[in-house]
Amino acid sequence: MFSKLKRSALGAQVPHEKKTAGLATVAMPCPERIVLPMQQHIGAPCTPAVKKGDTVCVGTVVGTAGGFISAAIHSGVSGTVEAIETVQMPNGRSVPAVAIRADGQQTPDPACVPPVVTDQKSLIAAAQACGLVGLGGAGFPTAVKFSPKDLSAIDTLIINGAECEPYITSDNREFLECSESVLGGIAAVKKCLGIKKVVIGIERNKPEAIDLMFSLVKNDPDYSVMPMKSRYPQGAEKVLIEKAVAREVPRGGLPADAGVIVMNVTTVSTLGKFLTTGMPLTKKRLTVDGDAIGEPKNVEVIIGTPISEVLDFCGVKDDVTKILMGGPMMGTAVSNPATPVLKQNNAILAFGPTMSHLPKPGPCIRCGSCINACPMGLSPVEIAGAFQRRDAEMLDKLMTDLCIGCGTCTFVCPAKRPVTQTMNLAKGVLQKAKTGGKK
Ligand code: SF4
Ligand code: SF4
Repeated sequence: MFSKLKRSALGAQVPHEKKTAGLATVAMPCPERIVLPMQQHIGAPCTPAVKKGDTVCVGTVVGTAGGFISAAIHSGVSGTVEAIETVQMPNGRSVPAVAIRADGQQTPDPACVPPVVTDQKSLIAAAQACGLVGLGGAGFPTAVKFSPKDLSAIDTLIINGAECEPYITSDNREFLECSESVLGGIAAVKKCLGIKKVVIGIERNKPEAIDLMFSLVKNDPDYSVMPMKSRYPQGAEKVLIEKAVAREVPRGGLPADAGVIVMNVTTVSTLGKFLTTGMPLTKKRLTVDGDAIGEPKNVEVIIGTPISEVLDFCGVKDDVTKILMGGPMMGTAVSNPATPVLKQNNAILAFGPTMSHLPKPGPCIRCGSCINACPMGLSPVEIAGAFQRRDAEMLDKLMTDLCIGCGTCTFVCPAKRPVTQTMNLAKGVLQKAKTGGKK
């Protein structure tokens, strides 16, 4: 069914709104207090490694990884641990968090020294020591990506620089401002994992990034830059893999099952920086934009900074009614502006009443637009029917689990139906049926 589809031809033409693309990153001043939730990744939560009253430096481990599928958390400020408290994440889950009062000195932890990486084992150790996760939004621990079942079957490293969500330009800035780290990180992964080819995928709406990367790698036959059409969601992993190597990830499988490792450009660049400085992941570039932002910017923010402070730094207007972590297609609404910036955040968008208004959904007119646009070749309208009947067998047959939650079906629906939300609920019903409610 799926092999006949050209996923990259599907999707939707969404407005780009990338007016921050040409704006160099501005560093935000150090906040007075940061809060670091112990779950900033897919997998097991971290365990606090410090207690109230402890002194920490920039780069000190404050959360120990809770297993192999997990990622350590480090302080981005020097100061004193003020509390181990509970915070509510945007998804509603309550998690423990380490709150640190900054001393303003920004003293680096002397234990942060550049690692020596020579092979797969030392590369995995470096990713763990960096606390590295997928920074494009997924938050998947990078060390796990470096541990495929069969490393010899991996022939291509794909760098995801598509950045297809409207508004977000933080990856574009990573290419333009940190190309040395991007290439340093790529070279280390390529060498340590013995990967032959590198494909750097960038949407055509980032011509400067394409030109720069092309000029830097053009003499190395192992590297290629792949300009991609600007169509959402070109950056979805499975779409990108199909485009880069013309292979499909099997249902329930991982990119490694298609012989590739995919890394977001900021993730690989952060690895490159860690290899030269030894300073783990404690800062993040965010695109701050939306019609309720007075001065849209790309800002470098210490992880754990309250979103409200980032918004104030960018001149948020009084009439803000909606805040999103991430882009308008896949981002998460934030109800509490005190929520801290997380590792995997790449944008904060704030909208006023006009842009926040949600149209009233009408009845489905069976137009099929959601089917024609879905990059995974799914039939959201049939899945919605099976969901209404709580028909788990049919949901399985319709491959509901392949939905990547990209939001394209909602975007194209002329009846303004919340199609993606229904897909998420349907996935929940299917998962419950498959796991007997254990997960
Ligand atoms: S959210 Fe799911 S069903 Fe909707 S277009 Fe994306 S992959 Fe398809
Ligand atoms: S796009 Fe909307 S109206 Fe058209 S079939 Fe899908 S859900 Fe129904």
